[in-house]
Amino acid sequence: AADKIDTIVSLSKRRGFVYPCSEIYGGQRAAWDYGPLGVELKENLKRQWWRYMVTSREDVVGIDSSVILASEVWQASGHVATFTDPLTECTSCHKRFRADHLEEAFEAKHGREPESLAEVNCPNCGNKGQFTEPKQFSGLLATHLGPTQDSGSVAYLRPETAQGIFTNFAQVQQTSRRKPPFGIAQMGKSFRNEITPGNFIFRTREFEQMEMEFFVKPGEDEKWQEYWMEQRWNWYTGLGLREENMRWYEHPSEKLSHYSKRTADIEYRFSFGGSEWGELEGVANRTDFDLSAHAEASGKDLSYFDQEAGERWTPYVIEPAAGVGRAMLAFMLDAYAEDEAPNAKGKMEKRVVMRLDPRLSPVKVAVLPLSRNPELSPKAKGLASALRQNWNIDFDDAGAIGKRYRRQDEIGTPFCVTVDFDTLDDNAVTVRERDTMKQERVSLDQIEGYLAARLIG
Ligand code: ATP
Repeated sequence: AADKIDTIVSLSKRRGFVYPCSEIYGGQRAAWDYGPLGVELKENLKRQWWRYMVTSREDVVGIDSSVILASEVWQASGHVATFTDPLTECTSCHKRFRADHLEEAFEAKHGREPESLAEVNCPNCGNKGQFTEPKQFSGLLATHLGPTQDSGSVAYLRPETAQGIFTNFAQVQQTSRRKPPFGIAQMGKSFRNEITPGNFIFRTREFEQMEMEFFVKPGEDEKWQEYWMEQRWNWYTGLGLREENMRWYEHPSEKLSHYSKRTADIEYRFSFGGSEWGELEGVANRTDFDLSAHAEASGKDLSYFDQEAGERWTPYVIEPAAGVGRAMLAFMLDAYAEDEAPNAKGKMEKRVVMRLDPRLSPVKVAVLPLSRNPELSPKAKGLASALRQNWNIDFDDAGAIGKRYRRQDEIGTPFCVTVDFDTLDDNAVTVRERDTMKQERVSLDQIEGYLAARLIG
């Protein structure tokens, strides 16, 4: 299955989903740029998340905070002190690893934790027990603000979007006149100085997150965590991710992050070389850790006065935190399929088809004149520009029609609309559906409604 990842990486580059970053200079390791199709898929994913988590609900609102927050935020949140990973190096091949990743891989293989790294083989050179004593390495990416590089101007690029939500908690709660239970959501870039970035867009130093902090009365937190775990699972499956490729992973209590009472991850069967399962998203109970820490450090009251009960308390927080790149990779891997389609002579041939949910598909409809012709082309172009008012449309008149279908199947376009010579007489077009390859004749004055009924969301 590792070759499926390679297939997706090369398809991504060839068709313009994802390119290696700065490739004209030889590339920047483990950094990627999203191309014309990738940016559409990514934006569709984010839109679906925002709808599901924010605008379709009465109890969640959104914000968009800065990437660079006051340095005090990261002191108070515990990130400066504890957002670290244990770094180790193989003394044979000098490759660096996260010690916790080596231990996890060992456990996945042997069903138990290693006694020490002395038991572990180097994933790179294969030598056993050649690791240096792990050293804590900060995951924060720092920069300097202002003209001098003294320590007074050190600033951190956020490693999570959550803190911008906590620092705005009181303002948002008051201005939006919300009462717990309610949530604040945010999507945006985060940065981590990952020791071992890799596996395509799964782990990069710069990435996008979709996070929501849901504020609840203490004591109701466990119930709400169950609720959000179910919601998040349903979001993925509702957009077509197959349950057989998903599972829950409960963090053992001794390995929880510094702020967490309980964390459960949705894992996806990414099937990378070394490991089958990888974290897609985490649903954490952050308790009142962050609000309390910021209240203490800032001297501002971040508690909530519950008028009904006549009590003052600091809300507990349930946080579903997802990564955009990881979700996109999971949806692409899951949707990728190879089946057969008839060629021009009716003979069955292999075809590649990305069975994406139409809500995620980067191109919704391709308009294809049967051939390049002075009568067909303008008709098809007119149709494409009319449909473009509603959807992202591709117009393609190059090559054999079968080949053009294949190009659309491979990028997940749900519908191809063919304008042929009959169109000039009957004012109708042929609509071909991606998965079934069934074709239907639809009149031009009904085509927009026909597509709208099938391209919801
Ligand atoms: P991991 O254990 O894989 O490093 P994490 O537990 O540190 O991940 P969280 O802090 O829970 O990750 O972040 C929430 C989500 O953000 C993750 O589930 C993932 O989808 C995404 N994410 C985190 N780090 C990265 C990264 N370096 N590259 C891409 N996505 C990331």
